[in-house]
Amino acid sequence: MDADLDLAARRIVAARYVVAMTGAGLSVESGIPPFRGPGGLWTKYGEPPMNGYERFLADPKKAWEDRLNPQGPMRELWEALARAEPNPGHRALVQLEDAGVLRATITQNVDNLHRLAGSRSLLEIHGNATLIRCVTCVARYERDAIDYAILPPRCPRCDGLLKSDTVSFGEPIPPDVLEACSMAADRADCMIVAGTSATVYPAAGFPIAIADRGGDLIEVNPYPSDLTPLCRMTLMGPAGEVLPALAARVLALR
Ligand SMILES: [Zn+2]
Repeated sequence: MDADLDLAARRIVAARYVVAMTGAGLSVESGIPPFRGPGGLWTKYGEPPMNGYERFLADPKKAWEDRLNPQGPMRELWEALARAEPNPGHRALVQLEDAGVLRATITQNVDNLHRLAGSRSLLEIHGNATLIRCVTCVARYERDAIDYAILPPRCPRCDGLLKSDTVSFGEPIPPDVLEACSMAADRADCMIVAGTSATVYPAAGFPIAIADRGGDLIEVNPYPSDLTPLCRMTLMGPAGEVLPALAARVLALR
């Protein structure tokens, strides 16, 4: 493992443009339940409807009532989100960003933990659960900045419909964040993939494109994934342990 960490650190230092992509595995280490797999919310409560966005648009008032008074899996998720704190994996990525090594972090997580840890160049491809977004003009607001007296709430800027920034099933990825993710992935010659098997599109397309043009994928996962065969190296273990060890080696080399 030490030799693998050293080699991965050297690849990262040698790269021109390093980005990270993270997913649920990183959140699980902060106590946030996953959706799928053993102990997953959907495993326990059943898969949610795949047309969540369509249902939101059909009855936004009802969707907001459910959102403000969650039951079942959503209640469990919101309680976990309220308690969760960033772990050493989140903080290691911030160290790499502060050192000028990591240019952007693309995350599939909606839990705000990268932001809490201090990530600045952060692209939340599936949105952020603490933010509210206008369906029309894509403006985002802090959850507490919105008045919920009349549902559904309306955009203070354009009077458009507001929904959670979290991307629902069937909802297009907001164009601003999708564009920024594509630009970061296009420039990257090295991607650290941590806590995700990257199977959900469009996020899954970024590491594949980087590998296709000969860039380095450095995977940090506790188990082999579908991405493993494409990776220059796989550092097997929890992101909260591997990323700090990797960051320390990268910083020592510079
Ligand atoms: Zn608006």
